[in-house]
Amino acid sequence: ARTVSFTAVRCRTTHPALQRNTGAGIRAARPVATASPEPGHEMVHFRPAMTRIVMKFGGTSVADLDRIRNVAARVKREVEAGNEVAVVVSAMAGATNQLVKWCQELSPLHDAREYDTVVATGEQVTIGLLAIALQAAGIDARSWQGWQIPIRTDDAHGKARVEAIEGAELIRRMQSGQVPVVAGFQGIGPDNRVTTLGRGGSDLSAVALAAAVRAERCDIYTDVDGVYTTDPRIVPRARKLERISYEEMLELASVGAKVLQTRSVELA
Ligand code: ADP
Ligand code: ASP
Ligand code: MG
Repeated sequence: ARTVSFTAVRCRTTHPALQRNTGAGIRAARPVATASPEPGHEMVHFRPAMTRIVMKFGGTSVADLDRIRNVAARVKREVEAGNEVAVVVSAMAGATNQLVKWCQELSPLHDAREYDTVVATGEQVTIGLLAIALQAAGIDARSWQGWQIPIRTDDAHGKARVEAIEGAELIRRMQSGQVPVVAGFQGIGPDNRVTTLGRGGSDLSAVALAAAVRAERCDIYTDVDGVYTTDPRIVPRARKLERISYEEMLELASVGAKVLQTRSVELA
């Protein structure tokens, strides 16, 4: 794959586009993968330096207020470099597990629609907090829940598939300098009830959003500094991969490497 440098930014232009991002990371939140929404698509080369980016931050990166401030600072850097930015966040680390546990404790055979109502709340907290942190840092930002965009899904509660995302309003706002802060993991079903996309589903939200707003890049920030041959927290001898193809990443994800959710790789 080729990397073309424009004035202030790097743009990935060719397939395979899932590759290590060389941009500077922040503590406990480093980009592990960059995905172009249109594999094989060549960008027009005479384009302004501005790049449209979706930045996704996982649970560890928003686990407390200091980390949320760090995320805001990282987003601010991209905005001040002249880029249009939308952000996708997960719930605070551990929050979703707690919500799932409460549903199971009340009833092992609970209503999947109500499960989604409960577990989708983790992301509502973090979008609001990050929007506040961005505003406090002088950046125009606004939070979006899945239904507000809307992110339309099927009715498979607990593991819904994304069917369509209305991107026009978000694009307009990004063009006017506002940063949309979008709840990962959430959508809205055919009957207008809240759905969730399966565990780890914020990765999918980010990739799907990147396609919907025609972003040049989707950067996934997490708590490891790259994709490894196996889970580096379990196997100390795991090797960091400089690059990985879609097919290899899909294989890793589908045997359980949760660093990227399987469906997000398929969609990318
Ligand atoms: P996030 O909350 O950012 O989505 P996750 O916990 O879902 O983060 O995924 C990151 C974790 O994935 C890492 O902490 C690591 O333990 C695990 N992991 C599993 N397999 C791999 C792998 N092959 N490469 C890197 N990380 C991996
Ligand atoms: N918060 C959700 C989960 O823990 C979604 C995500 O983190 O991607 O599964
Ligand atoms: Mg994850």
